[in-house]
Amino acid sequence: MGEKAKIAVTPAIQVGGSLFTPEQLATMAKIVGEDAVIEMTPFKQLYLEIPLERREVIVEELQRSGLEVYPAGFVTKSLIVCNFCKGAEEAGLETAKGINKAIAGIETPTPVKVGYAGCALGTSEPLLKDIGVVKMRDSFDIYVGGEAKGLKASLAKLLVSGLSEAQLVPVITNVIDFYKRNAKGKEVFSKFIERITLDQLKKIALG
Ligand code: SF4
Repeated sequence: MGEKAKIAVTPAIQVGGSLFTPEQLATMAKIVGEDAVIEMTPFKQLYLEIPLERREVIVEELQRSGLEVYPAGFVTKSLIVCNFCKGAEEAGLETAKGINKAIAGIETPTPVKVGYAGCALGTSEPLLKDIGVVKMRDSFDIYVGGEAKGLKASLAKLLVSGLSEAQLVPVITNVIDFYKRNAKGKEVFSKFIERITLDQLKKIALG
């Protein structure tokens, strides 16, 4: 058997949540074949194992069916969003898409999860993510260092509030870049935040 590659697949960010069409599920089933398994990850991506030499063709076929394909492993995961129940505009659907485009798939020392909630009800649990974005009426707050795993699980802390939409991507990418450059080996993001302190990170984040 030839070499395998693992890819992460998601539906597009949309009102209603992580919705797959029957055609998309059929496309995935056809691609992986009868003997394969498809893994549902805790971060709302499906992991597919595919033959390495067919990677490009398969990715194109998945994208043609409207699916998005990202690298698996030690990267920033695609944005974990809410269902936009308050509507695309009020909950900031396009903002979320813009953040996802900027951050999904960046190589990082350990996997980084970024959450987005379209209002303060936060049903996508942004405070349990490494980085959480919460849309308040006309501005955005960013939280960092949430840890959902283990017996010492903890909530993310407020890093900056009152950001405009235009500030979001620069602030989030500054935080990710800083983590990439300064993490000690495979130091997880929440531990990294504890070590460097919120005050220091705030200065870095705002450039
Ligand atoms: S975070 Fe707010 S807008 Fe998003 S699904 Fe939950 S309640 Fe609706």
